[in-house]
Amino acid sequence: MNIVLFGPPGAGKGTQAKNLEKKLKNFQVSTGEMLRYEIQKNTEIGKKIINYMNDGKFVDDEIVNKLIQKVIFDPSKKNRLIFDGYPRTIKQAKNLDLWLADTNQKIDFIFFLNVNKETLIKRIEKRKIVEKRSDDDLSTILKRYDTYMVTTRPVLDYYSNKSNFKEIDGSLEIAEIASKISNILKV
Ligand code: AMP
Repeated sequence: MNIVLFGPPGAGKGTQAKNLEKKLKNFQVSTGEMLRYEIQKNTEIGKKIINYMNDGKFVDDEIVNKLIQKVIFDPSKKNRLIFDGYPRTIKQAKNLDLWLADTNQKIDFIFFLNVNKETLIKRIEKRKIVEKRSDDDLSTILKRYDTYMVTTRPVLDYYSNKSNFKEIDGSLEIAEIASKISNILKV
């Protein structure tokens, strides 16, 4: 089963992805985590993207696509993917459909974690204290939210009329959200 977790920054996609990863023995595919890893390891990719990431801007599709293709085309992960933070643009959503079709896969469920701006800001400010992510300071959070509204939210129109699209109130407690997702997945 392949799942897409969709929503603004701070909606809880990563938390729910990790939960599902354990429950389903699937693989979390977080482009954000993959990119942070490149920065941490100071790779060529890491050096290229650090300023974009710290500024809350999207990383070039060329880089993100390579990372994501590696996972989709990995036979050991076939039909066991939980996308978190990808797709973020209509173009990425279309690419995802193409690559999944190329490998005889599809998206089984799309969960939209819907959370309002005030709650997101509060959550990310708390996360900043724990995870110390350099893109979690207030000015960058606001930029990331605006980018979400302008560029990523239109992906909702691409997904929302599909039968496998499920909207979840992302302002609920972590366990409540997890239980709603489990009920839909029947796991
Ligand atoms: P996240 O961990 O999903 O909040 O992502 C953190 C940052 O990584 C984003 O603000 C972007 O700079 C970059 N990033 C993550 N996923 C993507 C993507 N699908 N396309 C472009 N940039 C991305």
